[in-house]
Parts: sequence; structure tokens; C-alpha cells
Amino acid sequence: MIPRYERCTCKECEVFAGIFGSAFWHGNVSPSMHYWLSKESTLTRLPMAAFPHIRKICKAGFIVDSNGNNKYLIHHERMALPTLYISGGRSLLVTPETSFLANKYMKLHQPGFRHERVVVEGFGHSDLLIGEESDKKVFPHILSHIRSAEGGNGAISAPGRKYTKEAALEWEDDPYEEYGGFDSWFSPLVVVLLFFFLFLMIVL
Ligand SMILES: [Zn+2]
Repeated sequence: MIPRYERCTCKECEVFAGIFGSAFWHGNVSPSMHYWLSKESTLTRLPMAAFPHIRKICKAGFIVDSNGNNKYLIHHERMALPTLYISGGRSLLVTPETSFLANKYMKLHQPGFRHERVVVEGFGHSDLLIGEESDKKVFPHILSHIRSAEGGNGAISAPGRKYTKEAALEWEDDPYEEYGGFDSWFSPLVVVLLFFFLFLMIVL
């Protein structure tokens, strides 16, 4: 739901937040973006078909296919690509720990590719991409990662691994841990993978 100190009189915004949780800090988006989101974007007609699938994911505690089968986590070899994780430092809907775990997962299973993570202070979730200042505070990280990943097809050490298994398994050293905890509706692993697929949607 929209935090109590976030005042919004737009009924579409309230409905959306009631279904998903509030996805952005209102102060980070322009009035025109807020109007477009609420009145003109495809979000005004929200398909509900994905919810039975999301329910299965939440019940399993990790990503599963629409039939409830563990199809993705067991095939990390298919994710041979560089990744960049961006979390908002002002936690909303998901927490920075989700990208922390996803980054570790990829460093462990695809150590030959560049995997980076950024926590951008002041942002929540979708405002990372639609925020009025995203072009200054968020997009430069994406451009920088794309440029570095394009060199050598994303591989950072050829041949051999860049990240050690020991480093990938150090779970307690999140340098951004002061930004938020596990106060999310979904289990961390589910959010990690939802974020991962959001990332794939961005890069593909
Ligand atoms: Zn609103």
C-alpha cells in the first residue's frame, strides 16, 4: 500500500498500490509521469493472468514455472551473460538485499562474466527507471555497465574465473546493508529472481 505519509488522491494509483504495493516514491516522479502512469499507460488495464503464477512462486519460495516446476534455478549455465543489479536505497516494495543475493548468485555460477551492483540512494523501485532524475543518477550506471560488458563479450577474465567461490559465498558483507532489511512482501529469493527477470527485460 502507499505509505501513509505519501499523499495521493488518484484512485488508479491507490488500486495499483493495493495490488502490488507501492512501486515508486511520488516525490521522485514528475506530475506528467504520474498522470501518464495512472490515466494513459497500459497499467490502466491490468491483466490478472500472471497472478496464479506469482502465487506459485511465492508459495514455493523461489522462482518456478507456471506449472510450479523448478525450471530456472537448476539451469544457471543458461545465464552466461554479464549482469548489473540496481536497487533503490530508500526501500520500497523490495529491498537492496535482493540485488545483493542475485549478484552473489551470478558471481558464484557465472564467475567469468562481469556482475555489478549499485544501490542508488533516495530511490525506491520503479522510480529508478521513471524518476525525474533517473537520467542523472541511474542511467549512467547502466551505460557504464553496457560499455564495460561489450568489451570481450562481457567476459572479464579469459580464460578462467574472476570471482572466487569463497567471495561469492560471503553473505554478510553487504556494503549497503544500512539501506534496508527484509521487510518485503515476498521472500528475498523470489524478489531476487523477479528483479533478475526485470533486468533481462531491460537488456533484451
Ligand atoms: Zn499516486
